[in-house]
Amino acid sequence: MIIAIDGHSSCGKSTIAKALAKKLNFTYVDTGAMYRAVTLFCLQNSLITNDVVDETALESRLHEVQISFVKNADVQETYLNGVNVEREIRSMTVAQHVSTVSKIGFVRAFLVKKQQEYGENASVVMDGRDIGTKVFPNADYKFFVTASAEIRAQRRYDELMQKEGKANYEEILENLKQRDYADSTRKESPLKQADDAILVDTSNMTREGQLEWILNKIQ
Ligand code: C5P
Repeated sequence: MIIAIDGHSSCGKSTIAKALAKKLNFTYVDTGAMYRAVTLFCLQNSLITNDVVDETALESRLHEVQISFVKNADVQETYLNGVNVEREIRSMTVAQHVSTVSKIGFVRAFLVKKQQEYGENASVVMDGRDIGTKVFPNADYKFFVTASAEIRAQRRYDELMQKEGKANYEEILENLKQRDYADSTRKESPLKQADDAILVDTSNMTREGQLEWILNKIQ
C-alpha cells in the first residue's frame, strides 16, 4: 500500500507521515530530506554560486550521491554518503537553496526513481510535493496538507527554538513563502493538489487531531 502526503512547506506533513507510518507499521520516506541532501552535496562541493547551480558539474557528479535513512533510537535520520547529515540538511542555508536544486529535471529524475523503488518493495508512507501527482499517481491514499503561512512559520520557529535555541520568525516566514512560490510555479512537477487527493487544513488541528483525522479517512 502507498500513502502519499503532499503539501506546503512546514505544514506538518512529515510529523503526520511519521506518526502514520509508525501506527501502520509502514516504511516512512521523507523525500524532502532527499532534495535537501542533494543540496547539501552541492554546497559541500561548491556547486552553487549566488543561488545558481553548476548543472553540468552536478549532472556529472550525481552518481556520487548516496542517500540512506537509518533509525537511531527510534528516530529516522538521513545519511549522505555514509555520514549522518540530519541536522545539517535542516539548516537555513540548505532551506535557502533547496528549491533551486529541486527544480532541476535530472535531479528530480534521479530521486523519483529511488522513491519509486522504495514503493516497489514495501508499504510506504511518503511525504513531499509531487508524490500523488508524479511519483505514485496510483497511490492508494493521497492527502494534501496545508495551513496558513503564519501558523506554519510559528510552528517551525517553536521547533527550531526547542532544538537549536535560536530562530528568526521573519526569516522563516519569508523562506517558506519563497519556497511555496518556487515549488508551485516551477516547470518540473510543480507542487499542486492531485485531483483525487483529500485536503487537510491543519491550521486549527493539534498533532493528535491530524493523525486521528487521517486514520479515520483510511479506516
Ligand atoms: O519537505 P521539505 O520542506 O523538507 O522539502 C524541501 C524542499 O525540497 C521543498 O521546498 C521542495 O523544493 C523540495 N521537494 C520537492 N519535491 C518533493 C519533496 C521536496 O521538490 N517531493
